[in-house]
Amino acid sequence: MKGYVQVYTGNGKGKTTAALGLALRATGAGLKVFFIQFMKGMESSEQVALEKLGDLITLKRYGAPSFIMDVPSQEDIASAYEGLAEAKQAMLSGKYQVIVLDEANVAVQYNLFSVEILLDLMRAKPDDVELIITGRNAHQMIIEAADLVTEMKEIKHYYQKGIPARIGIEK
Ligand code: ATP
Ligand code: MG
Repeated sequence: MKGYVQVYTGNGKGKTTAALGLALRATGAGLKVFFIQFMKGMESSEQVALEKLGDLITLKRYGAPSFIMDVPSQEDIASAYEGLAEAKQAMLSGKYQVIVLDEANVAVQYNLFSVEILLDLMRAKPDDVELIITGRNAHQMIIEAADLVTEMKEIKHYYQKGIPARIGIEK
């Protein structure tokens, strides 16, 4: 099956959720998924859920804590590079039909890795692999190189009323 490059961006809720939904659907069809999270923050419920899917989904977490802003540390940069290299290897291995780079747009925005290295990975995508990139503020070059781009646009969000991220819903 021909695979495409999908980007979920924008400031509204649903980017990571959409990627997880697609991953779930893919496993239902017997497709193997490599799911990498670049802005590893706190523990998340999706980690627990994905572990239950056994070898249908491989989950990796690299990069910086999601709350770092401004200048990332050398360790965060090294971790993100390592993660991206591993994702590329997984993409080229023939073992996975779906690759998810969760928050890769944010990793680019905070200079954990360059937009060029992410574009290189996109260009190297085998024809039969689906590649999903999430995160707000997608770089214009990523948008141009993708086949599908969805913008989650915030109309309203309860965090503006001070509702923190809830276990099972946001984390
Ligand atoms: P989800 O993981 O729920 O699908 P998302 O991937 O679209 O959301 P991200 O931009 O990755 O959203 O943000 C991750 C989480 O950070 C959100 O679910 C929310 O809990 C929290 N968050 C995002 N923006 C804000 C904000 N402005 N104030 C408070 N919390 C925020
Ligand atoms: Mg997200």
